[in-house]
Amino acid sequence: MLSADLPWLQAPLADALARARSHALLVQGPAGVGQLELAVKLAQSWLCEDRGEAQPACGRCASCKLFASGTHPDFQLLLPEALDASARESLGLPFEEPDAPKAGKAKPSKEIKVEAVRNLLAFAQATSARGKAKVVVIFPAEALNGIAANALLKTLEEPSGLLRFALASHDSASLLPTIRSRCQPLPLPLPERSAALAWLASKGVDGAEGLLDATGGRPQQALAWHEAGLTDAAWQALPKRVARGEVAALSDWAPPRAIDALQRLCHDLVRRSHGRPGQFFAAASLPSPKRAAPLLGWDAELRRAARHADHPLNASLWIEALVAQAQTAIAAAAR
Ligand SMILES: [Zn+2]
Repeated sequence: MLSADLPWLQAPLADALARARSHALLVQGPAGVGQLELAVKLAQSWLCEDRGEAQPACGRCASCKLFASGTHPDFQLLLPEALDASARESLGLPFEEPDAPKAGKAKPSKEIKVEAVRNLLAFAQATSARGKAKVVVIFPAEALNGIAANALLKTLEEPSGLLRFALASHDSASLLPTIRSRCQPLPLPLPERSAALAWLASKGVDGAEGLLDATGGRPQQALAWHEAGLTDAAWQALPKRVARGEVAALSDWAPPRAIDALQRLCHDLVRRSHGRPGQFFAAASLPSPKRAAPLLGWDAELRRAARHADHPLNASLWIEALVAQAQTAIAAAAR
C-alpha cells in the first residue's frame, strides 16, 4: 500500500526517518499533498521488523503485513468521524461504510473528541504487542478540540515505553502551542510540478495542468476535483460565466466548493488588477479588471459568506446571491 502511490513522498520520508529525534513528529504544510500518507508511512517504518536503521518499511515482514491489512495491534489511527471512512479507504485500509444520513441524527463530527483520546490513552498505557514500537497517527491534528488536546498533552510529553506519535496538520498555527512545542516539526512542501503531473496522468486525469493550477499545486485535491466531475474546460469557463451572471455555472456545486471557487477567482482578479498573472486560472480565462477596490470589497463579502457555507438556509438562493454579487463586483472593477 501507499509507498508506490505518492512518489513525491519518498524523499521527505527518508529525510524524516533520518532526522527524527523526538518521539513525536508533526508533519505540517498545505492540504492535498499527502500529509496523512507520510505520517502513516512513518508509522509503518517505525513498526517494521526487518528494515535497517532509518530505512523505510520493507513491506514484506510480518509487521508490514499486519499493517497493510489494518490489523496491526501496535498502531492506532485517530481521525474525526466525518473523515474516518474516506481516509481509511484512500489509504487502502479496511473501513466501515458510513451510515446514510438520517433526519434527526447528528452529522458525523469534524472534530476529534475527548472520548476518542481517552480510548487512545488506554492503548498508550498497554504494553507493545510485538515489542518493536507503538505508534499513534493523528490527522488532522487541528481537529482535536480543546478538551481532547488537553487530555493528550501529558502522554504526548512523557509517552510510556515504546510509544511514538506522528501528527499531521494543514493548519499548525491553530494548534495549541503546548501541542506544537511537544512535537518536532516536519515540513511537507508542495511536490515538484513534474512529479505531480506525472502522478495525475497515471490516474487518468485529462487537463491535469489546469486542474493542478486550480488547486494551487496540490495533486490530491486536483484528483478529488476530477473525480467529482470537474474538467479543465469547465474550470476555465467559470470566470466569464460568473461575470455574465450565469447561476448555472455554480448551481451543481456544493456551497463550500462554490465559495472556494469564487474566492480563487476573486484572488486572481485582484492579481490581474495589479498587472500580475492569475494563480488558479489561465490568463485567457480571466477578464481584465482596471480597479482593485470593488474586488477587495467582494473579497471581504466572500469571507463573511464562507463562514456559513456549511449550512446555508437555502443553497440555491444562496448561490444565486453569490453569483449576482460576483457579477456586480467584476463589472465595477472593469470600469
Ligand atoms: Zn517490514
